Amino acid sequence: MRLLLTIIYLISCSVVLANATESIQTFVIPHSHMDVGWVYTVQESMHAYAANVYTSVTEELSKEKNRRFEMYLKLFKDCLILKKKKKKVRQLVREGRLEFVLGGQVMPDEAVTDLDDLLVQMTEGHGFLFETFGVRPRFSWGVDPFGASAAAPVLFALAGFDGHLISRIDYDLKDSMQKTKKLQFVWRGSASLQERQQIFTHTMDQFSYCTPSYLPFSNRSGFYWNGVALFPDPPKDGVYPNMSLPITKETVHAYASTMVENIKQRADWFRTKHVLWPWGCDKQFYNSSVQFANMDPLMDYINKNSKDLGVTVRYATLAEYFRAVHDADLVWEVRGSEDFLPYSTESHQAWTGFYASRNILKGVARRASAQLHAAETLFTLYRINYPDGPVTKDWALAKLKALRWAVSEVQHHDGITGTESPKVADMYLQHLTQAMMGGEELLAAIFLLPHNIDILNAPRNHKKAGARHDLEQYVIVYNPLAWNISTVINVTVTFPFARVFDESRRPVPAQIQRSALSNVTYDLFILADLEGLQQTKYLISFSEKPCPLKSKCGSTFEAKEVHFETRSIRDWKKVGSRLLPVLSECYKLMFDQDTNLLHSITHLQDKRRVRVTQDFWEYRANGDVKAGPISDNYIFSANGSAVRAYEAVRMEIVPGDIITEIRQYFYRNESDEDYAFSIITRVPECFGSKVRCHGLEQTYSLGPLPVNAEVVLRTSSSLKSDRTLYTDNNGYQMMKRTHREFANNTLARNYFPMVRTAYIEDELSRLVLVADRAHGVSSQASGQLEVMLHRRLWNNLPWNLGYNLTLNDSSVVRPTLHVMLASKSVAAKIYQREAIELQHRPVVMPVDLPHLRWQENEHKRSPHARAVVLPPNLHLLSLSIPGWNYSVRSGENVQPEPDYDRVLLRIMHLFEEGEDPELSKPLTINLKDVLRGIGDLSAMEERSLTGTWDIGSLQRWRWKTADNKAEKKRSSRRFGDDPFSVTISAKEIRTFFVSFNSRNL
Ligand SMILES: [Zn+2]
Repeated sequence: MRLLLTIIYLISCSVVLANATESIQTFVIPHSHMDVGWVYTVQESMHAYAANVYTSVTEELSKEKNRRFEMYLKLFKDCLILKKKKKKVRQLVREGRLEFVLGGQVMPDEAVTDLDDLLVQMTEGHGFLFETFGVRPRFSWGVDPFGASAAAPVLFALAGFDGHLISRIDYDLKDSMQKTKKLQFVWRGSASLQERQQIFTHTMDQFSYCTPSYLPFSNRSGFYWNGVALFPDPPKDGVYPNMSLPITKETVHAYASTMVENIKQRADWFRTKHVLWPWGCDKQFYNSSVQFANMDPLMDYINKNSKDLGVTVRYATLAEYFRAVHDADLVWEVRGSEDFLPYSTESHQAWTGFYASRNILKGVARRASAQLHAAETLFTLYRINYPDGPVTKDWALAKLKALRWAVSEVQHHDGITGTESPKVADMYLQHLTQAMMGGEELLAAIFLLPHNIDILNAPRNHKKAGARHDLEQYVIVYNPLAWNISTVINVTVTFPFARVFDESRRPVPAQIQRSALSNVTYDLFILADLEGLQQTKYLISFSEKPCPLKSKCGSTFEAKEVHFETRSIRDWKKVGSRLLPVLSECYKLMFDQDTNLLHSITHLQDKRRVRVTQDFWEYRANGDVKAGPISDNYIFSANGSAVRAYEAVRMEIVPGDIITEIRQYFYRNESDEDYAFSIITRVPECFGSKVRCHGLEQTYSLGPLPVNAEVVLRTSSSLKSDRTLYTDNNGYQMMKRTHREFANNTLARNYFPMVRTAYIEDELSRLVLVADRAHGVSSQASGQLEVMLHRRLWNNLPWNLGYNLTLNDSSVVRPTLHVMLASKSVAAKIYQREAIELQHRPVVMPVDLPHLRWQENEHKRSPHARAVVLPPNLHLLSLSIPGWNYSVRSGENVQPEPDYDRVLLRIMHLFEEGEDPELSKPLTINLKDVLRGIGDLSAMEERSLTGTWDIGSLQRWRWKTADNKAEKKRSSRRFGDDPFSVTISAKEIRTFFVSFNSRNL
């Protein structure tokens, strides 16, 4: 052993000695950064330059063997011209001259994107690339997202990647990492998975992904000989503005010395002699012949003089660069489960505003994602059980694919971030709503069409729609989660009285009341017990008048609001003397009648009373660049502390049997007739222990805001949390956020993204918020959590004005949060599930077809008869029919038939190691048993995260670390008696292809 170690040491010594005399090897990586939608829409970009990039690069690569190009999917799939060139592209890809990096449909944001959507966009991209070109991307290329998440490296590792690349991290941190040569490290992004899913990570240096553009002898476009892209149309004569001086005998030396100087500067920041020199920037290479025609002789010149210059240059792909660094065989430092969020470009430029920019877009994106998840599971169930049913598979897959694409597209780093121009935001919204309409059609078809052709063709026994039927409505409710849940469904109706019945005509507990935000509608709350992946139907019978006979009224409680006098903050002389309790199975909430605000929450199980109050504050932003730092769609610059955003509060309480609703309306000025903000809190009352009572649902209403206001919901408590908070990375894992002091801008730099969850805690209790969309969150004082809910900004920076990027968002927004307070141990057990249940609320589809009466035994024809229920610590992350073939096409131009029999299944363990004494433990389940409700499982095969690798054949590169830990190869399943048993340990996501014996019921 000792001998072996010595040899290794000697070898590595000789490598170091050799390196010292070697010249710097430069990997020139040509690439073009093409935002799918930022300032311009997809169509505009395609027209102005993007189509040209793909075609001209393909041409140019074919001409010279040594040329390379880095490409990520983005608009590529849509590029029709390229369809004719698939053969050529395939060849270039096969020869390693054209490389797809990342491989998702877009380069996603990492701060405000959700795990579900990151998976959708990568799975679709990887499926397409593998089927079309036979390639599986192995390197990421996160050059532009505004900060880097620690969940991303875990996902790339799980997808079988060998290297991860990031760029935008805090300017001061990057500076120190450069000086200490620590830009490269092995990242163990998950605290539980550790070295099992580690990945080598390269952080781009301060030049980031663009080539240095300022050259003293040329013009400002540096090494971009094709100049600057032109909108709306490419120039007819092919001459673009701002083209650099061409490479000639006269200029070549000046170009070479500038390039070499830059290469040497960068080489100093890295431990090996390899320099990654990205050649490109935004919207480059639309005229790549001129690019390569200049770069070729420049590189020749440098290589011919490499002895003197100490530098060699070559075109390379990212794979070639990572391969060279890997082969240097160094021992790398390890980074644990810490992310690079938030991100600042300089002391007053904290990119923490975008966490909350365009609340509506963020909300719609998440709703679309939830609909997609529900539709995927439902179609899978349908397909397995009714392969010949009337919902045709091609039609259904087309709807799903459209929704997958819309959900993927908006994950772009100028999409869900809200950092795009208004017309591009409208484009994303339009694509999402259009695809959601298709999703709705698919859901309706599966719900409503008889599942058997015979029934469809049988003569309909139409009952005449009499008056009685006009006052009846059916509601179909589907639970897309593989857990049994008890919940409250809210249906908005126009009648003041209603009774609810289940499929067997038994009355169902319900509650009806006037809606908080409308005078003409009513909220009907239905207590629903739903089994995993099951649907159920309710019949609602309406009436204009109250039910005369109590015995015939069903179980609907008619709730009436109680009004409280408006309270002005001027009168807050004596508060806390008149407290009004609202009780539920979990809590005693106290509301202060002197302020109309929440006063305290007592968690009944722990009997601990915590002072909690909630109200709205706002940051008043500066809009004049001459007067100081501005806030915009990216940046949050707090221009002083937040101020209270209201002068008076009105309260109504609607006590109920199922829900008690507390309505608080906040008036900006005492004399205002209309309120500026509202909080509607729904406290679930309990029928036995049916409804889990911890989550207090709150829906807020804000807007239109005055210009240059950034409004936060501030929840202040008596918890001694010392300004430490926890927020999630993409809904995958929690990050501890300790308050940090900076020379400048401390407030804004202590803002963090909250995708699903944020909490604060002290020794005893934890206060948790889970959200239905991404927000910014901060703890500016001990016991305090503030969530930035809405921003409306305008500033006079010419660049912002020119691109219409000032975020003058005049919308009214209605986000929802769930608030929970419990002992730390209880909270740890439930907060993740609460977030998932909020994200994947049951699908509620009212059916306005009075003649469509269900027959007595109709429920037997629902897509599947039995529930699918996973243990509480396991989550059915994905159940879908991807449709991809996951094999390379044989014929060059044959469009393969989609594969409808392969089901992609992902199961995730929700807990971190040690988070809960029981629930954190690894768990063995038998998939055949667990999935019996779906069908008879006939085969399963473990795959990489996006499905492209059989896990048994996946060999990831090993990178040396000081502790010498490396990923251990794990057998893909437990062999032995039971081939369908799998063990899932803390934070694992395991992906399978499964197939079922089809059955016809
Ligand atoms: Zn970008």
